[in-house]
Amino acid sequence: MELLNIKNLDLAGKKVFIRCDFNVPMDEFGNISDDRRIRSALSTINFCLDQNCAVILASHLGRPKGKVVEKYSLVSVARRVKHLLKREVILSKDVVGSDAIEKAKSLKPSEVLLLENLRYEAGETENNKELSEKLASMADFYINDAFGVSHRAHSSVEGITCFFDEKHKAAGFLLQKEIEFFSKLIEKPVRPFAAIIGGSKISGKLEALTNLLTRVDKIIIGGGMAFTFLKQMGYDIGASLVEDDLLEDAQHIMDEAKRLGVKFYLPVDVVAAEKFSEDSISKLVPVQEIPSGWMGLDIGPATVRLYREVLSDVQTVLWNGPMGVYEMDKFARGSNKIAHFVADSYATTVVGGGDTADLVQKVGVDEEISFISTGGGATLELLEGKILPGVAPLIVK
Ligand code: AMP
Repeated sequence: MELLNIKNLDLAGKKVFIRCDFNVPMDEFGNISDDRRIRSALSTINFCLDQNCAVILASHLGRPKGKVVEKYSLVSVARRVKHLLKREVILSKDVVGSDAIEKAKSLKPSEVLLLENLRYEAGETENNKELSEKLASMADFYINDAFGVSHRAHSSVEGITCFFDEKHKAAGFLLQKEIEFFSKLIEKPVRPFAAIIGGSKISGKLEALTNLLTRVDKIIIGGGMAFTFLKQMGYDIGASLVEDDLLEDAQHIMDEAKRLGVKFYLPVDVVAAEKFSEDSISKLVPVQEIPSGWMGLDIGPATVRLYREVLSDVQTVLWNGPMGVYEMDKFARGSNKIAHFVADSYATTVVGGGDTADLVQKVGVDEEISFISTGGGATLELLEGKILPGVAPLIVK
């Protein structure tokens, strides 16, 4: 899959609209706690500035659901972009209102304008054509560098591309890099190839799991989703997270794994707690011995040892989803240990998904991972074999 390349556009001195993914995590005071997504967009922005472009940046932040909600304003993002670019960044008061339109119109070469949160406009998530047209009218060129949101057919991601021909739109460097990396990973992985899949539920990852079965040699399961498999196998899982409506799907995945010769691993022990709380009493138990009414909130040490063994000979590792409730220190050990092991491995290691990226950063091993994707949902849809709606219009025909 070849994407329209930003380097082939005649950008010099023109106005460029760059759809970024600045949907960064914030603490309770509105401070940005991880600016990876902003830093990842800098090469595309700087490339345009180096060509003396007037640059219009646009992003969403959180879910304001079509209304102006102050806590989702891009004020802090504008400040961080300014700091990282080391140049002035103008923030418009609205998205496509008179302020934004006026500021976009008067924007001069080498100046940077950031539009307010795209999702202040209800039309954004509805892929509203009028909104796309207004956004498109601001610039001569459209660049998509928002990998994290390219699986959404939204106005600034999909609809807008209809207003630019092939000489006036392209994928930014981040989008290119992500798509190239995942295409290679899916088409030609160095084997053995293992996928570590965790997180809360099977439901969000069902298709990805099914699709991965045909591509990987080993699947390692952790997190809350393990309990649906364990229940289906006949274990008493107490009050652990379970999706009863997916028991059959869980069985189907295990049957398919067997049929395809894919080695499938589930936890053998867990950290069980009486309540879903950091101060709950907890104990280590084999999965056969989860006390009635207790819930498994992390993988146990025997599972960590088993998974280390399973991973010791692999050449490619893809990891999506934590092994337990890593947000609480008490239930983070399994995820932390796996993070260290993955980071120390000589294999090509790929981390996808916001939680897992956050986790490896917290553990401090992010520099040791071969590739950390900025997308969660988008990586899963790529793994499902889908062509993302934000990417399809940028494929070279
Ligand atoms: P996901 O968004 O599906 O990748 O899930 C990530 C979330 O799963 C994290 O917030 C974890 O706290 C949560 N999680 C992981 N393991 C468990 C578990 N055993 N029980 C409940 N939640 C879990």
